Amino acid sequence: MTKATAKSPWVVHVNCNSCNGCDIEFLACLTPMYDAERFGVLHIGTPKHADIMVVTGSVNNRNARVLRNLYEQMPSPKVVVAMGVCPATGGIFADGYNVIGGAEKVVPVDVFVPGCPPRPEAMLDGILEGVKILEGKRRNSATVKPVRRIKIVRPAPAPAPAEPAPAAAAPVPEPVKEEASC
Ligand code: SF4
Repeated sequence: MTKATAKSPWVVHVNCNSCNGCDIEFLACLTPMYDAERFGVLHIGTPKHADIMVVTGSVNNRNARVLRNLYEQMPSPKVVVAMGVCPATGGIFADGYNVIGGAEKVVPVDVFVPGCPPRPEAMLDGILEGVKILEGKRRNSATVKPVRRIKIVRPAPAPAPAEPAPAAAAPVPEPVKEEASC
């Protein structure tokens, strides 16, 4: 199963209050012109089946909880790719009263793709970098052996050997009486 899914990552896209510049470029990656599917990348609408989360936009107080909630619904191992400067630092919205200054404050980001917006080629590079990280995480998780709980059953102690019975005392021979002769 791990081998079969290693080369075909499913990607979920989360828009955290972006200006839509990054989102339009990301959509271009999925078109036949840039054709992300040639790398096995499939864009899906649910985090429950996704391997990679693509985050765009400056994360703010309002959508941080939603981002965290979507991340927690993804099965492990998983990778987060931040597209553009907005999810890296807040970008041009960094001084906003409700901007928290980067997606990393809410979810662990594995790959940052710089640009405002990044070119589709850079986005594809970022996703392929995420695929490598995902493979590494899968390999590491496969080598971790589950801890087995072993119940130790100790045998009951063997009974102590019986004490040897004391030897019976030898019978004392009775003295032979001599019969008086007449
Ligand atoms: S990085 Fe630039 S293009 Fe992308 S969401 Fe932010 S402001 Fe828009």
